[in-house]
Amino acid sequence: MRVRILASVLSLFLLSCNPQPFPTLAPTPGTAERIAELQNHMTQKLPGCVEDLEKRFEKKWEGLEGLSVKLTDKGVDANDRRAGSTIGTTGGISISLRVQFFLSGSQELELTLCHEVVHAYFRNFTAAAAYTLIPTWFREGSAVYLAGQTQAKVLAQLFQNIEAPWTQINGLENPKHGFGDYFEDALAFEFLDLKTGALTAVLLAALNGQEVFAAIEALTGLSKVEFLEQAKQYAVEKIKQQWNEIPELLRTNALHAEDVKKSAYKVGVLEEYLKSKNVSVTPDGHFEGPLTPHEFFAFRLLANQYRLPGGHFDEANRIYQALLTQTPAYTYGGDAGSVRYEWAFLYLGHGEPAAALEQFERVYMEHLESPMLQNASTLGIARAQFDLGNFEQARRWLEPQNLADAYTADEITYRLGISYFKLCHSKGVSILKKLSKSETRGIWIDQAREALTRIAAGTLTAPGCKK
Ligand SMILES: [Zn+2]
Repeated sequence: MRVRILASVLSLFLLSCNPQPFPTLAPTPGTAERIAELQNHMTQKLPGCVEDLEKRFEKKWEGLEGLSVKLTDKGVDANDRRAGSTIGTTGGISISLRVQFFLSGSQELELTLCHEVVHAYFRNFTAAAAYTLIPTWFREGSAVYLAGQTQAKVLAQLFQNIEAPWTQINGLENPKHGFGDYFEDALAFEFLDLKTGALTAVLLAALNGQEVFAAIEALTGLSKVEFLEQAKQYAVEKIKQQWNEIPELLRTNALHAEDVKKSAYKVGVLEEYLKSKNVSVTPDGHFEGPLTPHEFFAFRLLANQYRLPGGHFDEANRIYQALLTQTPAYTYGGDAGSVRYEWAFLYLGHGEPAAALEQFERVYMEHLESPMLQNASTLGIARAQFDLGNFEQARRWLEPQNLADAYTADEITYRLGISYFKLCHSKGVSILKKLSKSETRGIWIDQAREALTRIAAGTLTAPGCKK
């Protein structure tokens, strides 16, 4: 039921981008069980998140039973890609964690839970009006730092912007500063902690309602301007230092190889790197641990190369499996959705449409953090259904596709024509005829011509249709 609601919400969201709705999906097998596990995990971890804060600030949270913590599946909002949120209500404080982020593996439940508990704890001890006056960087940075997410955010920033990740450090009070800058917010608290020793005192002052820059000045001697400048400098140095620790060959191999020669070169250096580290993936798809984040990242790059035509299906398959089932997403770049999408394509290219379908459907249902991938997965689902010979399903996923994309328009038209033909609809042949008369050249136009020839010759048939 839960997931059916999710599917309808998702399709509503996608409807706003497309003229026709995509079909709704039944839950992936095992979803209910996985949600129950997450629920259980959350209940077990909650007291620890609260106790850590109570100890640090020596302030007991009386009336904790009024805190509501829920896994929710509501809401796909293009402006809100947060895995969790905390609101104050008249009845108390309420945390909601969006279940898809944890089903997909793109976020860690315990870390996100503790993060939201920091927000809730601050809300509990500050008046509602005072809480909203605390700057965003302070609220988010403290939550990330105290929840232990700093290294995760730093790694995501390093691997996702591998060419020069420090150039995005823009200053805590910069108007451009936003959702993607949590790593910088957290590093400001690391700076307070490691360089001034005043972390807990500053947070406690804020908890007691003191204005944050006044508290920082009183406790560290740094004026607002000095603090902002030094925190920024600290973040730049920290990111540069971590970037320098990434082996050169991982930095230069981060980009996708377009041609086979480049790919072979990249495969060679990546294999050599992993061999030199003495790490490998087992035949049943597990990393022989423990691995460093750089090694995870190297595996991810290697799987991307193995996936290319002429690559190594079995090796790529094992690496994707290990990355998605065994590895926290942030350790290889915080991009579980892309890895799942690449895995689905691997299966599709290898003639395993059923396995491809399963992964494309999970991207569609679970990867709320990436609307572009979700949208792209609909064509993946259509392709897999087509390859499976499920032409009615293929038609239902092809029909709403936006044909504005020149790279896929002919392919979609071809597959739609064949689907209609197989479904005994006269539209099929007319779609193929129109495509075959196209002025441009391309493999799908050739395919349409060939299909029409074979239909005329009776070698391409639609069994079950009346003549
Ligand atoms: Zn937050």
